[in-house]
Amino acid sequence: MSKASSSSTAKISSFVLIVIFITLALSLAAIVLSVNAFSGGQEVFAGYLLLIGVLSAALSVYVLFQTRKRILRLKIEVPPITTTIECRKCGFKSIREFQRGDYIFKDVEPCQKCNENMLITAIYREVKERKRERFPF
Ligand SMILES: [Zn+2]
Repeated sequence: MSKASSSSTAKISSFVLIVIFITLALSLAAIVLSVNAFSGGQEVFAGYLLLIGVLSAALSVYVLFQTRKRILRLKIEVPPITTTIECRKCGFKSIREFQRGDYIFKDVEPCQKCNENMLITAIYREVKERKRERFPF
């Protein structure tokens, strides 16, 4: 179970979703059964069924939200482009997000320290070292 949740791939996510929906359906069935059992006079049995139904419904909704969060985070995770700006006079360095029209050796906003015009010295994509996700099969 922990293996499946650590490797967040679309395939596994859809599998998890199916499991969640089956659990949700079963828990709803348990709740309906408990209502039937209660009207049939089996209060203890009805109570157990209701407990199981509510607990598994809560659990599946919780897992569903966790999975959705992870999918959203995966979509946002695009490596950002970073621009490094350097001051020629005092060596002050600043890093900011890449903006349209940035190019190397372009003069940009004045230095925060000495008011001299600063220069773009590097533009790069920040790629985090990440192991390739592998399917267990
Ligand atoms: Zn400076």
